[in-house]
Amino acid sequence: MAHHQPAGLGGLRVGAAGSVRRWLPARAARPTRGPAARLPGPARHGVPVRRRADIGRPGRPHGAGPVTGVRSPGASPPEQAEADVVVIGAGLAGLAAATELEAAGRRVQVVEALGRVGGRTASHHRYGQALDAGGGYVGVRHVRVRELAGRFGLVLTPTAAPGANLFDLGAGPVRSDARRPAFNALAVGDALDRLDDLAAGVPPVDPGAAADAAGLDRLTVAAWARREFAHPDARLLIDLLVRQMLAADPAEVGMLHLLFYLASGGGVHYLTAFSGGAQQDRFAGGAHQLAERMAAALARPVRLGSPVTDLHAEHPASGDTRMARGAIRIVGPQLTIRCARVVVAVPPGPAGRIRLRLPGVRRPPGPTRTRGATVKLHVIYARPFWADAGLSGWVTAGAGPLRYVVDDSAGRDGLGVLVGFVTGPDARVFGGLSRAARRAAVLDRLAHWFGPAARQPLALLEWDWQAEPTVEGCYAAVPEPGWWTAAGPPWPAAGRATSGAPGGPVFWAGTERCAEFYGHLEGAVRSGQEAARRLLAADRVGR
Ligand SMILES: Cc1cc2nc3c(=O)[nH]c(=O)nc-3n(C[C@H](O)[C@H](O)[C@H](O)COP(=O)(O)OP(=O)(O)OC[C@H]3O[C@@H](n4cnc5c(N)ncnc54)[C@H](O)[C@@H]3O)c2cc1C
Repeated sequence: MAHHQPAGLGGLRVGAAGSVRRWLPARAARPTRGPAARLPGPARHGVPVRRRADIGRPGRPHGAGPVTGVRSPGASPPEQAEADVVVIGAGLAGLAAATELEAAGRRVQVVEALGRVGGRTASHHRYGQALDAGGGYVGVRHVRVRELAGRFGLVLTPTAAPGANLFDLGAGPVRSDARRPAFNALAVGDALDRLDDLAAGVPPVDPGAAADAAGLDRLTVAAWARREFAHPDARLLIDLLVRQMLAADPAEVGMLHLLFYLASGGGVHYLTAFSGGAQQDRFAGGAHQLAERMAAALARPVRLGSPVTDLHAEHPASGDTRMARGAIRIVGPQLTIRCARVVVAVPPGPAGRIRLRLPGVRRPPGPTRTRGATVKLHVIYARPFWADAGLSGWVTAGAGPLRYVVDDSAGRDGLGVLVGFVTGPDARVFGGLSRAARRAAVLDRLAHWFGPAARQPLALLEWDWQAEPTVEGCYAAVPEPGWWTAAGPPWPAAGRATSGAPGGPVFWAGTERCAEFYGHLEGAVRSGQEAARRLLAADRVGR
């Protein structure tokens, strides 16, 4: 996520292990080897485990609000149905594809594993407010999302919060009216320029074509920063940037991926800016509304709670990949649908678990394992009391678990809402803590920055995206170093939404399949629209 201002001053180099030790309560942690390792059985088999809770009021977990235009499975046996196109996944990519295909006259059935639409957009509903638990910020260049927002009657509102920011980078909290702290200007300017220069040499449609792509791919961002910059401010800036933008540890991310991400998203300056940048606006009333309204506008209700496990050919012996209508069977525990075309609009990890039994159809490479991890927290107060002290509510910290806090209050007269992000290795450890330990860890940090009043929230809500196996990789998939060049072309983010034989019948979408704005809402929408465009073009050729 390029969703926060880069920040950080001082000579502190923050390593994952060190930062974790600093805030871990004794004997509270249950480190794991990854989300699946500590999830109960069902999660490992693709059934989502709800891990959204109000840890301010123990025992009252909750999720998204009611959704119209969708259908949940009952206790009935798997349903037989037909469609021209089945879209797997009701995130923005799948819904964007379905919207275009339906407008072109196709009978479209969207199927979704979760009990809600929206995928990585979702909201808590509390005190009459919807709070973005997933993707929410919309940049000035995110024109397709803006167009859809307008088309579906949604309003975007600026994210700016007035007041001074806090930077807690080793020597205690420091106030600053600037969005960036008093870094050494030369060191930071040099680091940002170097990143943008290098990113300009990485074509997002083909990162492997960059000069020394293999070397950059193997080199971790942490190792690159150590090699290139003597000044601690430059190293710290890079560390903060990667944790904020990619929700990952720079020691686990390859340089080629970082540069690809920057090139895809519009460069480091744009990606890290609020006003005029990638965090310019958010949806009034929550980003989840976009998916809900798109789903509600479809002719056929989205089938919820319907994970797809298999794609079968009805006539596998024929070898004909441009299959006739009704030639593919979409199979899951809750459904069987016959169709002619499929759009797979799910992230690479879950997509890799769908069995393809279609002759001639290859699965395009995608980073099925990710180093990204996020827990997003909302801490709700009766009023934004930090404004009394002239604070904006924004914090950047050099140690976990809470490294970034922003103010999502709707103005200064109502409830106060602080949003915290726990990312990368911090999130993996945090997710293994007891509920009481998670609550204490969060409130301790907030009280450190905002005073004792921070210990008295009305509610403390969390959404642990690690516990959502069908939307894993949050904010977006972050491959391990070396993955890009090992996977080889066709690049998953090559802007080509299709794979397999020309003409389909399977078309791939999702923000991780988009060379433009990879990992963003905009990338998801573009990928879905592109998949639909290619599918329709293939149909025209096949006639
Ligand atoms: C905490 C957080 C903050 C973020 N902040 C921002 C932000 O501020 N701005 C921004 O632009 N982006 C942000 N992002 C990223 C953004 O949300 C995503 O890039 C985007 O929503 C991805 O959309 P998608 O349709 O590609 O995938 P998804 O939203 O993941 O949708 C895929 C859908 O497929 C379903 N699925 C998976 N497997 C199956 C199966 N086998 N059968 C049926 N269904 C299946 C999933 O359940 C899911 O609903 C954020 C993400 C997170 C998690």
